[in-house]
Amino acid sequence: MENCLFCKIAAGDIPSRKVYEDDELFAFHDINPARPVHILVIPKRHITSLASSTEADLPVLGRMLAVANRLATEQGSPDGFRLIINTGAIGHQEVQHLHAHIVGGPEPVGPMLKRV
Ligand code: AMP
Ligand code: ZN
Repeated sequence: MENCLFCKIAAGDIPSRKVYEDDELFAFHDINPARPVHILVIPKRHITSLASSTEADLPVLGRMLAVANRLATEQGSPDGFRLIINTGAIGHQEVQHLHAHIVGGPEPVGPMLKRV
């Protein structure tokens, strides 16, 4: 997909701090980490968001979960982590290419949401 930041990162056209790559997935450090461990896992194939994914995407979605679990342990959050998929405007998705945030580190990340 033209003009998609994460498509360009997955293709290596924009540099990133890569932590993992295979045929279908790419993972890299978030440029503005919220916690000591903050990694993004993306499908290489453009999927705009979880909301636009289809049944055909189930295998790659499943692999995102499995790879995220492994990377969290390998990358410094072996005692647990949070996996976040911001979706659409309500979910405050800023980059329109599906991505899962792995957030963690040595300390608990805190409550999930601030109550409004
Ligand atoms: P979201 O609100 O879920 O769409 O989050 C997008 C995330 O992408 C944010 O946490 C940004 O810090 C991160 N981000 C944006 N540009 C880059 C980049 N060039 N390299 C790595 N992470 C990025
Ligand atoms: Zn894309």
